[in-house]
Amino acid sequence: MKSELKIAVRELVEHVLRSGDLVFEFLGSSRPVEAIRAHQKIQNSRPDTYRSEVAVAHQVETDRFRLIIGGRIDGVYTEAQRTVVEEIKTTTRSPDYFEKNENPIHWGQAKTYAYILGRDRGLDEISTLLTFYRLDTAEIRQFKRTFSISELEIFFNDLVERYLQWAAAIIIDWPAQRDASIGGLKFPFVNYRPGQDKMTDEAYRTIRDHGQLLVQAATGIGKTIAVLYPAVKALAEELSQKIFYLTARTTGQLAAENALDELRAEGLRLKSLTLTAKDKICFCPGSACHPDECEYARGYYDRINDAIASIFAQDALSREQIAQTAKKFKVCPFEFSLDLSRYADCVICDYNYVFDPRVYLRRFFQEENGDYIFLIDETHNLVDRSREMFSAEIYKQPILGLRRCLKTELPNIFKSLGRINAWMVAARKKCQESNNPLAEKSPPEELFPLLRGFLFIAERWLSQNIKTPFREALLDLYFTISGFIRVADQYDQCYASCYEKTGEELKIKLFCIDPSGHLEKALKRCRAAIFFSATMTPMDYFRKILGCDPAAQYLILDSPFPHENLGLFIADQISTYYRHRDQTVSEVSRVISALVEQKKGNYLLYFPSYAYMRKIYDSFTARNPQTETILQTPGMKESERESFLERFAIDNPQTLVGFAVMGGIFGEGIDLVGDRLLGAVVVGVGLPGISLERELIKEYFSATLSAGFEYAYLFPGINRVLQAAGRVIRTENDRGVVLLIDQRYARFQYKSLLREEWDPISVQDATQLAEALQKFWNQQ
Ligand code: SF4
Repeated sequence: MKSELKIAVRELVEHVLRSGDLVFEFLGSSRPVEAIRAHQKIQNSRPDTYRSEVAVAHQVETDRFRLIIGGRIDGVYTEAQRTVVEEIKTTTRSPDYFEKNENPIHWGQAKTYAYILGRDRGLDEISTLLTFYRLDTAEIRQFKRTFSISELEIFFNDLVERYLQWAAAIIIDWPAQRDASIGGLKFPFVNYRPGQDKMTDEAYRTIRDHGQLLVQAATGIGKTIAVLYPAVKALAEELSQKIFYLTARTTGQLAAENALDELRAEGLRLKSLTLTAKDKICFCPGSACHPDECEYARGYYDRINDAIASIFAQDALSREQIAQTAKKFKVCPFEFSLDLSRYADCVICDYNYVFDPRVYLRRFFQEENGDYIFLIDETHNLVDRSREMFSAEIYKQPILGLRRCLKTELPNIFKSLGRINAWMVAARKKCQESNNPLAEKSPPEELFPLLRGFLFIAERWLSQNIKTPFREALLDLYFTISGFIRVADQYDQCYASCYEKTGEELKIKLFCIDPSGHLEKALKRCRAAIFFSATMTPMDYFRKILGCDPAAQYLILDSPFPHENLGLFIADQISTYYRHRDQTVSEVSRVISALVEQKKGNYLLYFPSYAYMRKIYDSFTARNPQTETILQTPGMKESERESFLERFAIDNPQTLVGFAVMGGIFGEGIDLVGDRLLGAVVVGVGLPGISLERELIKEYFSATLSAGFEYAYLFPGINRVLQAAGRVIRTENDRGVVLLIDQRYARFQYKSLLREEWDPISVQDATQLAEALQKFWNQQ
């Protein structure tokens, strides 16, 4: 059977004829709407015989392929008994530019449409009219050319041949090769771990039935492979065209890459692509993405098709592989990876490429209801990440700073920023006079027209792409404010406006309290979504806050490792309430000392804040001057994080005690297997600190679900506790201890949220704890 491939005229022409530089031309937010209006204006001005939006299609058959090419011609009319095909282009440049710099893609589109129409109508020759409309001045310029159909046929056949040659290996032959490898693909391990088979089955059923599934599965079950394996199978069954594996951390991305490699070892052929943030993969940090400043933007389109063809000799398109090929072909690695995403079977990326309205992959999600599978790793992180994605903030000082730079050169923008600044000065005063920070349920309505006014003027100047020292700063502010306005347009009862004054600075934030509505909408872009994490407690909270369907299924799976390998102790006589902390410092330090004294090895302690951590640290080190300790500090760099973790050596003959904060960089996503971590201590119940935003969440969910404290503090807190405790047992051979310190664990409200399989031992004091620990460590 012949392979069939559909392609739009525009895509075909762009793909074959694109050449030259990568230019991030500023297009502006209102451009699409303006462009549609301009098209209509021209079309409406044409004579009665003019037909607009004329659909055409053409089929090319070769021995192996059937290529169906389709599209819509902007306009067709007859003039002096000759058919004319019109292609309209809107621009912010002077039409003179196009006279001097002919764009082969513009003419290519016009000629392709003219060939298809002329051939259909049995014509010998046909005219093409290329009309340029300048958006800001309404200036129109037209270029007309007449071609014989045989001339156009040569052009068209060459276009198609070049496309098919390129596409043969990458697009046309590939799905059959991939699907053949999937047909007999076995699960990559001899046996499923306990619970893993159930997770795999449920994931497959969810994909098949267009459903949603929430899975809480303890560390060690092998969640990544349990969702990827059925998703890969679904590709070959034509249930889906692409998998998006979404994760919040690099460690999650690596887990997905490794799982696919394991499947490849079983014979899988699958193109997987890892997307890396622009600032991390860029070869010229600090340069503008412009051919004058970056050699990887210069001539990008001259080399991109060869780069894509070359990298497709590989199946795993990792960050390193992309960087290597991008260097070799001298193309921007970030833009290259985005171009590759079109052809990849599985895209491994951060949540924001799918959910964030500012950066999501428009090439896939502009139109809803794709046949995609979303696999959402470490789902517990998505709650706060989505609040960030759907919120927006602006600061006063950058506005003022930029205003000063362009006083003489751009007086209109200067004035516009002056009006915004004046509004913010008044808001800052209001903040100072009331309780700073300040929250209001209503949006700052009077600010929005001022911001829109700025966008309007700035857009006109930016679209001229004039290079000045302040252009980048203006562009940044333009994007910040347009992001802010985009959120403002969606402002509803799920939002609050927050104002915070710090010295001269004022921050205004449109804060998304409840992200469920936005997420629900985003989830419509896929066929099936599987949310999974080691901690999703309670499930109903996650289902609601993540905007899942009421029919979404739940699956909770216990640890596959022997329960007796974890010794769990609760010191539930000690208060860690803020008001009691000074009184209980020595008690807390005593039980921690008792824990680490029972067995030499590495321990990690988690605290609700840096200040509290420091107090216990001082007390602990005074009590145990010989014990080696290490302390987390705020804002640690990646290298410092690495060295912190390296201290947790596998063969440490002494005791090492690490002090860290809950919910921070050591609270999750670290994998200290075996003797690298003997025990963890969680001081407190993990509640996030009281803040304006947390209080808004509390108030909102009190009013809507009568669960304000739970949604704002308790549930996020307990998931942090479970994450921290989950650091200890990472494999079936690990043995270790967890100590929870807080009297609130004795209450049903907290106790009921701990893991069902846990059987905690309650201890009164350090002496009882030491005895219980001796018993545990002696049971080998
Ligand atoms: S390499 Fe960096 S500077 Fe150059 S185009 Fe890419 S992202 Fe921009």
